[in-house]
Amino acid sequence: MTLFDLSGRVAVVTGGNGGIGLGMAKGLAAAGAAVVVSARNAAKGEAAVAALAASGVRSAFIALDVADEGSCRAMIEATLARFGRLDILVNNAGTSIRKPPESYSAAEWRTVLDTNLTGALFCSQAAYPAMKEAGAGKIINIGSMFAIFGAGYAAAYAASKGGLVQLTKSLAGAWAKDNIQVNAVLPGWIDTELTRAARRHVVELHDRVLARTPAGRWGVAEDLAGIAVFLAAPASDFITGAAIPVDGGFSSTGV
Ligand code: NDP
Repeated sequence: MTLFDLSGRVAVVTGGNGGIGLGMAKGLAAAGAAVVVSARNAAKGEAAVAALAASGVRSAFIALDVADEGSCRAMIEATLARFGRLDILVNNAGTSIRKPPESYSAAEWRTVLDTNLTGALFCSQAAYPAMKEAGAGKIINIGSMFAIFGAGYAAAYAASKGGLVQLTKSLAGAWAKDNIQVNAVLPGWIDTELTRAARRHVVELHDRVLARTPAGRWGVAEDLAGIAVFLAAPASDFITGAAIPVDGGFSSTGV
């Protein structure tokens, strides 16, 4: 086993049927892992599996509504039944509802928190017994720049992502004794369906991101592949509870 070799490992990527999740799934597959793609949209899921299988790895789509505790349990059980083990869980499924904070309904607020924050807890809880029994595990939670900065147009999203970083640290502390490392990735602005919608809502967002990002470009989903492999691999065995920006420098510079 070399530092970045994932041969023989089994990974679950929630929301792995597109965007950042698929970018990370491709990275994990290229490093040798079998990858379960789990989300609601089965057509997108099967297309993602076909793309992963083309690179020669075992892959499967397993339906998941991350906001439903029973669905999270069933998805992990189905993974274990089909692949026999679970080494890596990427909690990537996410959503946003953009509006002024004073106008969120309780249902809208809960939709975002349930998907982005509580869903990560449910999936981690479901994965924990198998990882504990195996004596090792890697959990990677996908945060955001809005775990650092606030967002007047996306308070629920920012609250969920801030909470996800604190959940990451809490799980890391609790499960270090089981040799389970739990870390967060904080992507900068990445071109996906989610941010295409944001660009329709937020005036001049595209140009503001370009001007603010030292790398001088929006990220692409494949920019997240390397960090996913690193945090899933033996190379990161002494790293836990960290929140690592992958943002072209967005969070490290002022104006
Ligand atoms: P996408 O909209 O492309 O991906 C979101 C994914 O989440 C989809 O695969 C979707 O699949 C899945 N998902 C949403 N709700 C649920 C649910 N209830 N149950 C299961 N799966 C669900 O956007 P991104 O790729 O951009 O987002 C991926 C993650 O990265 C999110 O957590 C997002 O917050 C985060 N992020 C994105 C950034 C960016 O700039 N793009 C920046 C920082 C963080 P389906 O609809 O089929 O269920």
